Amino acid sequence: MPKSVVAGNWKMNMTISQSVELMSRMKAGLDSVDKVEKIICPPFTSLSRILDIIGGTSINLGAQNMHYEERGAYTGEIAPDMIAEICTHVIIGHSERRQYFYENDGDVNRKVQVALQAGLIPILCVGENLSQRKSGIAQSVVEGQLISGLLDVADMSKIYVAYEPIWAIGTGVSASVQDAGEMMGIIRATLQSILGGDASSSVPLLYGGSVNANNISDYAQNDNIDGVLVGGASLDPDNFVSIARQMADI
Ligand code: PEP
Repeated sequence: MPKSVVAGNWKMNMTISQSVELMSRMKAGLDSVDKVEKIICPPFTSLSRILDIIGGTSINLGAQNMHYEERGAYTGEIAPDMIAEICTHVIIGHSERRQYFYENDGDVNRKVQVALQAGLIPILCVGENLSQRKSGIAQSVVEGQLISGLLDVADMSKIYVAYEPIWAIGTGVSASVQDAGEMMGIIRATLQSILGGDASSSVPLLYGGSVNANNISDYAQNDNIDGVLVGGASLDPDNFVSIARQMADI
């Protein structure tokens, strides 16, 4: 069975000094939580300082994005091996990257492939927007993102998938546990059709979208949900540590 995962995406929040303070405040609490994999994804500028703080703990470090090219004239971009030098994980294809920076499924697929080559664990994000859900095509959108994102990926043993319905991200309107669980079931079945039974059952499936300490236990109890990707609530140390604790207690 996949292990439980709690990942915090700080997005474009926290200067270096604010990051240091936030991490210092949650480090001991988070480190003390067993049975759950904890991942913190701060902005690029804070990565190496956060690594200094969490070194020797059970907390892992992730990046929020990376470029797919190895090296060269890509001003403002960060290469896979630069991330792999300090991180274990990288978020790929977050809906905000797709929406504001026009990342398409082809870009996402290249990023997944090079992340794996660099020894990183990609957290591949998929999810439909509100009009797609309302018009009844949520399932086909998510299946399509998954199939394209994983095209020609031979080894799935190191990939996580996060289902993040766009209408639930940062809105305070979380998907119902039933809807989230149902989509996770569809994602698992899609993985099975791509990979076959054994390989697909080891891919952790994370839910993301307005998760917090008050609603985590519902998600954690759903058999189809192996973990969560948390945005806003990961900026609050008590809230985030509580999410990890409740995840561990299930
Ligand atoms: C996210 O950005 O991945 C996310 C899930 O955000 P929030 O928890 O704030 O909805």
